[in-house]
Amino acid sequence: MRRFWFLVFLALCMLAGCTGAGTDQPQTTSFFAMDTVMDFTIYGDESLLAGAEALISDLEDAVSVTDENSEVYAINQIGEGALTGSAGELMQSALAMCRRTGGALDISIYPVVRAWGFTTGSYQVPGEDAIGELLDHVDYTKIQYNDETGVVSVPDDMKIDLGSVAKGFAGSQTAQYLRENGVDSALLNLGGNVQTVGCKPDGTPWKIAVKDPNGGTPMIVLSIQDQAVVTSGGYERYFEQDGNTYWHIMDPATGRPAESGLLSVTVVGDDGLVCDGLSTALFVMGLEKAAALWQKSNDFEAVFVTTEGDIYITAGLENSFALTEEHQGAFVRVIERLPKESSDK
Ligand code: ADP
Ligand code: MG
Repeated sequence: MRRFWFLVFLALCMLAGCTGAGTDQPQTTSFFAMDTVMDFTIYGDESLLAGAEALISDLEDAVSVTDENSEVYAINQIGEGALTGSAGELMQSALAMCRRTGGALDISIYPVVRAWGFTTGSYQVPGEDAIGELLDHVDYTKIQYNDETGVVSVPDDMKIDLGSVAKGFAGSQTAQYLRENGVDSALLNLGGNVQTVGCKPDGTPWKIAVKDPNGGTPMIVLSIQDQAVVTSGGYERYFEQDGNTYWHIMDPATGRPAESGLLSVTVVGDDGLVCDGLSTALFVMGLEKAAALWQKSNDFEAVFVTTEGDIYITAGLENSFALTEEHQGAFVRVIERLPKESSDK
């Protein structure tokens, strides 16, 4: 009988998800990679931090668009080349995200982003003709990837950039590496892309803040365990000219910064790459299309902040969502699930 109750207790602990990670001390590191500062806190063996950093550095070496020794650089120069290691998996998943979002995410948008100056900081508004010409070479459907050989081929003048999904992928890969090495509590911040492993050491969920896109102060707090939280917003990187604000998230349909009525999109899910790709893509799509994509998916939840400052959250976040003190008065609406006709993930 006692054994029965012990098993019930064990089952309840497992259902709760987190049982507390024990007495490990936090190990932290901060380093620059993938164009951003990364901060990792893990509860476990300190040597794993170096392993995690090496994993990210290897991935960056393969997929950097600016490093002349990278595999992606070679593909962009000569139109063909192989991706090795996990870079191939990154490419395959990135292409799947482009398809899933109907091209709102397009990994061949790089020349357009560059023309606006977002890669160098020499910002400018390109002319309509220039944008039109560049858009002729933006079309992810023309990218060929052979998942057996890892060889990628792109047409002349097409350039690929996996930057919109690389940090999310790197977060997931790092989380997997840590779990495999016995870590069951970690908080990885990859320049705003957050990846959690398990819960906090005391067994409660990680609290992840989402900023007010208008002021930068924490607006929303999400309770998260074992998942990724990725935000894309027009306020992260932008420039102003003649009274207009231009940001770094482009609508591949127009070649101009996406204006969809949203100021930020936060995506929560098990797969960091999916979250990263979707945060960019849903921002491009706008609330209505984004909600429709959510309705037929079951691998993510999202928080949308509109240009009016209204907040929309998908139903799955209802119990893990809270407003900060300062934003208690904000308008919040829950997007409910519609009765299902069909689901295609
Ligand atoms: P960040 O990398 O700044 O955290 P995102 O994950 O939203 O933000 O990625 C935005 C980056 O992706 C931009 O800096 C740009 O290089 C690229 N990008 C912009 N628009 C698109 C798009 N529609 N599809 C794919 N990549 C994009
Ligand atoms: Mg993104």
